[in-house]
Amino acid sequence: MGLVPAAPAHPFRLEGSGDGKEVVILGAGLAGMAAAYELDKLGYRCTILEARERTGGRCWSVRKGATNEETGGGLHTAGFDAGQYFNAGPSRIPHHHGLTLHYCKELSVPIQVYNNVNENTYYYSEGKGPLSNKKVRVREAHSDVRGWMAELLAKAMDGGKIDVEMSKEDTLKVIEYLRAEGGLDIDKLYKASARRGYSESPGPGDREGKIGEPMTLLAMLQSGLLDPDFYNVAEYTYELQGTLFQAVGGMDRIAAAFEQKVGRLIRMGSEVRHIRNLEKGVQVGYKDKTGEKTMQADLCICTIPLPVLSNIDHNFSSDASRAIDSIVYMSTGKIGLQFKRRFWEEDEGIYGGITHTNNQLTQIFYPSYDYLGGKGILIGYYNFNEKAVATGNLTYEQREQLALEKGSLIHPQYRQEFERSFSVSWHKTKYNMGGWALYSADERQTLYKALLQPDKQVYFAGEHMTYLNAWMAGALESARSVVAALHSRVTGQRFSYPVFGS
Ligand SMILES: Cc1cc2nc3c(=O)[nH]c(=O)nc-3n(C[C@H](O)[C@H](O)[C@H](O)COP(=O)(O)OP(=O)(O)OC[C@H]3O[C@@H](n4cnc5c(N)ncnc54)[C@H](O)[C@@H]3O)c2cc1C
Repeated sequence: MGLVPAAPAHPFRLEGSGDGKEVVILGAGLAGMAAAYELDKLGYRCTILEARERTGGRCWSVRKGATNEETGGGLHTAGFDAGQYFNAGPSRIPHHHGLTLHYCKELSVPIQVYNNVNENTYYYSEGKGPLSNKKVRVREAHSDVRGWMAELLAKAMDGGKIDVEMSKEDTLKVIEYLRAEGGLDIDKLYKASARRGYSESPGPGDREGKIGEPMTLLAMLQSGLLDPDFYNVAEYTYELQGTLFQAVGGMDRIAAAFEQKVGRLIRMGSEVRHIRNLEKGVQVGYKDKTGEKTMQADLCICTIPLPVLSNIDHNFSSDASRAIDSIVYMSTGKIGLQFKRRFWEEDEGIYGGITHTNNQLTQIFYPSYDYLGGKGILIGYYNFNEKAVATGNLTYEQREQLALEKGSLIHPQYRQEFERSFSVSWHKTKYNMGGWALYSADERQTLYKALLQPDKQVYFAGEHMTYLNAWMAGALESARSVVAALHSRVTGQRFSYPVFGS
């Protein structure tokens, strides 16, 4: 009869009131702002202390005038043109991150499809094997490796060399599947097909098109194209399977939407210096432009990343303290390169997606927005671990030189079209000190569990308090989870928070 309102996409039904209880929230990243947003609705009085002069934390799109401070690197300011940006942190939202999508809807953040897998990008193996320094289109590598592997397996099955008990009929079915999967011919041989693209495109009249010659399996192997840290199987993972989304106009639109709701609660430029559980309540010391301050609240939600928290004075239990000091974060970095024209689209037909390299760049990300626009920013490297440490140790100018030198091996247009850059080394960035938390299986059982419990009046939240590390969904799920726990404590009712999808 239309009398009952439609249920929200992702309901969060906590009953009772926070009754004006004071909660101090440390950090105005997504976890801190989402927690404040939900607590505010429930009648709590929240204050968010944020060290930076901006909200969003890692949810950050670098635009003209953006600044970052790295240890040993000094202050870095982005000189991009107005309207240009790149996502220095998150760039992709998996379709199954329901809570992220839920907040986009609730806060009116428009989203669009993110093109993560593009068969027209490249693999580039520098200085290794017969394919060294050759641009190999992803579709060529995919078609050839599938073809050669399917041929090998089909031959082995044909020759009865597979150690699986199977009827003749089933064996034939598998071979039929392999023929389809690998694009094999009637004799079960891989001879390449239009799947791997054309050396001469089909066209009008008698222009039939020429199919490119396949690479040999040996050439691919010797060039490292199939090395596990190079050949991209990441796109098979649950998180990177399509459909992926992004916020229109930059991922920081999500943070901006939360800020619109809770901005009045945030004290910017307030760096937390100490956190003390008191007999009743909690005391937080912080420093802002005017000097050292302290404030008290009934309860606290701490979303400060652990490597940063580790350097803040506190009186937490020894278990919590050990966990905070021990968890290692990913070293990772990105560089945004602004170009005068979108040559990757105009000259090479690349619209979004990723090129993979075996050198320091690791990946080049092409923007999945403003297609056919004038200028554009691509992500010149997005690297991890040792490669990120090595690039992070360079000066900002040296990083730019590295990105241009290695990038122009793939895109010679770089030198002609480049305008300016901005790089972020997350493990050297003052209020993060890392990309995301990395837990071993053992640490999940010990250190992680110690932080899942509140330390007296202090609750821990943030991507590090979930199994959704490196995802905005982790920040948001953890916020709801601690809000439910805190509200249970205040109201004496039991609210447990079901993780989305469970
Ligand atoms: C390179 C990179 C790529 C990523 N890619 C994706 C992606 O594609 N998709 C996706 O969903 N997620 C991605 N993520 C993960 C996502 O960005 C994070 O999981 C999420 O933004 C973390 O939010 P948070 O609130 O837990 O932490 P943060 O955003 O780090 O917030 C913590 C806040 O605490 C503040 N703070 C720190 N110290 C103090 C102090 N002393 N006093 C006061 N305030 C302090 C910080 O300034 C910050 O605002 C990526 C992250 C990185 C780094």
